[in-house]
Amino acid sequence: MIVLNQIRKIFDNGKAPIAAVDDVSLTVEQGQIYGIIGYSGAGKSTLIRLLNGLEKPTSGNVLINGQDISAATGETLRRARLKISMVFQHFNLLWSRTVSENIAFSMQIAGAPKAQIKTRVAELIDLVGLQGRENAYPSQLSGGQKQRVGIARALANSPDVLLCDEATSALDPQTTDQILDLLLDINRRFGLTIVLITHEMHVVRKICDRVAVMENGRVVEEGEVIRVFTHP
Ligand code: ADP
Ligand code: ADP
Repeated sequence: MIVLNQIRKIFDNGKAPIAAVDDVSLTVEQGQIYGIIGYSGAGKSTLIRLLNGLEKPTSGNVLINGQDISAATGETLRRARLKISMVFQHFNLLWSRTVSENIAFSMQIAGAPKAQIKTRVAELIDLVGLQGRENAYPSQLSGGQKQRVGIARALANSPDVLLCDEATSALDPQTTDQILDLLLDINRRFGLTIVLITHEMHVVRKICDRVAVMENGRVVEEGEVIRVFTHP
């Protein structure tokens, strides 16, 4: 479970301070797919960086399965972050490494034994449907295939939470649907909690259980997707 408690993040740009996130409180239950939607500048990226401990809130706290990630530092933060994985809009793959090597990378960093990495990578390749592409380089893959690598890599260390940052925004509509189906499948199969940020209503409608609508750093609406997106 993820709890955001009265989070504020102020960027002090020297002249006019900006509240990128302004008094946001949210709860994401275990196993939910939770969407955060808003226009550019609404504060979505800042919120996701607070969720994975890349930014510290100016005030408030972020609890992930009871652990205060916003207060964690050093080794504690590093270990907590291994369980909070990210999927990115522009994939962020290592371009000089193969599909398998990209997926193995975070496990190597975490210090997993070689044999375990090998088994897990094979399992993940199957899961995301990249059989036969193990030794390809990212430049030889389509956008959808690159994102499948991004998802497999994010799952390598069996995270508690998957954070998707505009994960389908660089993809065409058909590929977007395939990637959303994959995320839904992973969520249903493993009960993995997914938080995704997007500016696309379609993404939220297709896979999210709940949604928060952000505007100027604030959550202006929150609830079940059917309720928030249906006019009374
Ligand atoms: P979104 O992801 O919804 O586009 P952001 O979280 O990137 O929104 O940005 C929210 C607001 O905070 C914007 O006004 C942006 O300019 C500002 N902002 C974000 N990051 C920084 C930063 N590191 N320093 C100063 N201002 C920032
Ligand atoms: P795509 O064009 O497949 O959508 P991106 O534009 O998201 O990929 O690429 C992300 C980053 O990686 C960019 O900075 C881009 O310049 C760089 N990049 C893309 N392809 C390669 C490659 N084959 N080798 C090295 N860097 C690359």
